[in-house]
Amino acid sequence: MIAGFFRYCRLKWSVTALIVPAVAYTAAQTALYLFGLGSFPRFALYSLAVAVWDIWSVQLLLRYLPGQAFYGSRLAVLVISVHAALHTFSLILASSDLLFGLAKSASESLPIYYIAICMSLAKAFALLAMVIEKLINDLKIAAEIDGMTGLANRSSLIDRGEELLMRCREEGVKFAVLFVDIDQFKAINDDLGHHAGDIALKAFASIVKDIFDEEDDICGRYGGEEFVCLLTGDSATNVVRKSEMLRSRLAHKPIRIGGHALTMTVSIGVATDDGEICLLRLIKRADGALYESKNSGRDRVTLAV
Ligand code: GH3
Ligand code: MG
Ligand code: MG
Repeated sequence: MIAGFFRYCRLKWSVTALIVPAVAYTAAQTALYLFGLGSFPRFALYSLAVAVWDIWSVQLLLRYLPGQAFYGSRLAVLVISVHAALHTFSLILASSDLLFGLAKSASESLPIYYIAICMSLAKAFALLAMVIEKLINDLKIAAEIDGMTGLANRSSLIDRGEELLMRCREEGVKFAVLFVDIDQFKAINDDLGHHAGDIALKAFASIVKDIFDEEDDICGRYGGEEFVCLLTGDSATNVVRKSEMLRSRLAHKPIRIGGHALTMTVSIGVATDDGEICLLRLIKRADGALYESKNSGRDRVTLAV
């Protein structure tokens, strides 16, 4: 469980971190048994160990909770906190005469055992819910997001884009497709290396996100150095103006890679929705306009007619 917590919070862990507490706890319990002090000191030590372990887990979860607000993690924090409180309470009881009084009869102490068992089960289920929820979320991210740029990947761009196009048509909102291809990207790789090419792609994606990724819009990586943005509510003139903004931003603000200042240019094709064709054909139309941009010398925007 300790290893699990470290991994869940994405922290480094070592075997020592697992062995030391286990050995210390077992040694202390064995010593108390050998000294023959009865079961209450051992019970008190158990409660102390559980309370410390719970408090440690809660502070770790609170400090390193994943960025997304997971209900499972919150539930686990709540249940483990109650578990810690109960064990702190039983530690106090075990250290006082009260427990001796309560434990005189086995039937009177039964509710305490029931509560302890139920709380342990609740804790186990809360931890399970926490881990399953994170796995589902991780899978969802891996299926929908391009790992390198953090933009939508091709399949989620198309899935979400089709829904968006339908919604825009129903609501009478304008819809446009922007196809962006970085010019001579192979030369960047050849001159500066593949790793520098990756850095340039990430930096480029964050500029695209800055300029285009508004509330309803979707930007995604369509292929290697090709990006598609689906823009809503903008007239053709506005989309072309935004595309020009991207071009001039790249031209005036070189991307810094190590000590190198890299100026990239892009060719862009724009297609606006005519209410007739599906998303894939609109993307194809924007791609056609992009190739016109390439053929007329690159570093330009072409609007499909
Ligand atoms: P053009 O102006 O005609 O678009 O030329 P180009 O060099 O950009 O196009 P080309 O299709 O010849 O080359 C695309 C290059 O993009 C080749 C490939 O190695 C590179 N590329 C694709 N994906 C990645 C990636 O994830 N990382 C890096 N570093 N390079 C990539
Ligand atoms: Mg290219
Ligand atoms: Mg290309």
